[in-house]
Amino acid sequence: MEEKGNNSKITLGISSCLLGQEVRFDSSHKHNRYITDSLGEYFQFQAFCPEVAIGLGIPRPAIRLVKVSNDVRVRGVKDPEQDVTDAIKDYSRQAAKLCTELSGYIFKSKSPSCGMERVKIYSEKGDPLDNGPGLYAQGIMQQYPFLPVEEEGRLMDAHLRENFIERVFVYHRWQQYQNTLTPASLVEFHSRHKFTVLAHDEKVYRELGRLVADAGKADLKQLGKNYMSLLMTAMNQLATTKSHTNVLQHIMGFFKDKLSSEDKQELLSVLDDYRLGKLPLIVPVTLIKHYLRLYPDDYIASQYYLNPHPKELMLRNRI
Ligand code: SF4
Repeated sequence: MEEKGNNSKITLGISSCLLGQEVRFDSSHKHNRYITDSLGEYFQFQAFCPEVAIGLGIPRPAIRLVKVSNDVRVRGVKDPEQDVTDAIKDYSRQAAKLCTELSGYIFKSKSPSCGMERVKIYSEKGDPLDNGPGLYAQGIMQQYPFLPVEEEGRLMDAHLRENFIERVFVYHRWQQYQNTLTPASLVEFHSRHKFTVLAHDEKVYRELGRLVADAGKADLKQLGKNYMSLLMTAMNQLATTKSHTNVLQHIMGFFKDKLSSEDKQELLSVLDDYRLGKLPLIVPVTLIKHYLRLYPDDYIASQYYLNPHPKELMLRNRI
């Protein structure tokens, strides 16, 4: 089941039941209001229900992951003879062809088809043995290893939510660049994401710098793939209060000599309060942007770190 909305927004794949579609095994839905009401302002959704797509019907008998020898199968809970493993794998390959324009995917947790991770895997006798990804989600993630993915439950965590949306915007910007990549455009893309990467992973930040320095010499297509792989590896690391403080101090270094001693003291005090968890990230970032309006710097102004996603989503108000 696929459904598309208007074309002006970034597109996310999503499990249909999270949009309120009554497609679950018991004809219910798992409508998530944060996704449709808040994220829906900025993203359009392409919905997939793999179990309905393979013809299981609504309602339908429940299925689950079952370990059979070294394989994980998807079988009926009541009728172990029912095995839809191959049908779900086939559908996952078909659906992946429709996902080329997606900039992220929100999966329904705990589903043997859609769960991103930690879905229960049972023994053939029905005892819980282990856990792993749902079979459909696993197929999509294998086809698109860099695609930002998340589950609806984890989106309720402020840090995971901010990280997912930031990854979506980085990935989406890369999608705009990748087809017309030149050494110069790679350097520009990297330059504008430097502080973003630094906030997530200092080691990868240095590796990316070395990679981009070779932009004129290496095979550009391969270089682009290597760049994306490293970039998304970094973005998958949660930025910490310490790493954000480090980045903010770096940025402050670009204009601190222009500040009066009172302004400098105020900024340092706000940074310290953020470091100690007394203020959210939005406060020092807003103050820095204020000083950048007074003392413009083109390089800092170009950094996506200062405007990673729409401020109306208020993602930095709680981290
Ligand atoms: S979790 Fe996936 S398979 Fe299950 S109802 Fe939702 S969209 Fe369909």
